[in-house]
Amino acid sequence: MISGMIRSISKKYNEVNALNDISLDIYKGELLSILGSSGCGKSTLLYCIAGLEKPDCGNINLNDRVLFSKTKKVFIPPEKRNVSLVFQNYALWPHMNIFKNVAYPLQIRKVNKSIIKKEVFNILDLVGLSGKEKKYPFELSGGEQQRAAVARGLIMKPDILLLDEPFSNLDAKLREKMQDELKRIQKLTKLTMIHVTHDQEEAMRISDRIAIMNKGKLLQIGCPSEVYKKP
Ligand code: ADP
Ligand code: ADP
Repeated sequence: MISGMIRSISKKYNEVNALNDISLDIYKGELLSILGSSGCGKSTLLYCIAGLEKPDCGNINLNDRVLFSKTKKVFIPPEKRNVSLVFQNYALWPHMNIFKNVAYPLQIRKVNKSIIKKEVFNILDLVGLSGKEKKYPFELSGGEQQRAAVARGLIMKPDILLLDEPFSNLDAKLREKMQDELKRIQKLTKLTMIHVTHDQEEAMRISDRIAIMNKGKLLQIGCPSEVYKKP
């Protein structure tokens, strides 16, 4: 089932075509990886979906809602999109403990305190961080910090979880572990995820589909075995 539609979006920075006429469908519950080398436009595409960047043209729809339409002059701001973004760096606020970091998106929405508590403990359990709620980010390992960042992304039950190179700062072994964790969380929550990476192995390992980008263009999209046919 299609939950999102991107149609003919382009984005130019001065002379650079960061995105050049990108169209793709997003399927409900899939983990879609956007794969390509540095500078090919992956982050720009993610930010356009999140509403942090505005395309120059085209449309973005999510769950029957128009998030962006150049012709209809629609631009839904990021905080009203129900989309979460997990960054590779600066994921957590250093002055807040893990509970506060994860609870924050609910607190700013004025959710009832007892509900916040319940939701935060549920999500920390889901990402394997039970018992760490009073720790500060610097007291956690890199993998634990990234789990906490994913927990904060999950807490508001987004329509899509967007992940921008979430594991690229982790060592190889931990990276694989976190990839498997993400896959497990996806299966449990049935959440739609779009994940940006320049790592082909990572994309092959976790994705339901891979979209390959080069110089602002979408070259190919399909399941890993379609995109990388063995000779
Ligand atoms: P990476 O994919 O290696 O993490 P980034 O996505 O952060 O790199 O940036 C890719 C390229 O885009 C870099 O060459 C960077 O200089 C450029 N870039 C990113 N953000 C900006 C910006 N705000 N202004 C100008 N150039 C930028
Ligand atoms: P990727 O995530 O694949 O590394 P980006 O989407 O960050 O690529 O960048 C795509 C292109 O757009 C790059 O050439 C980059 O330098 C340029 N770019 C990205 N953001 C900006 C910006 N804010 N200002 C100017 N150029 C930018």
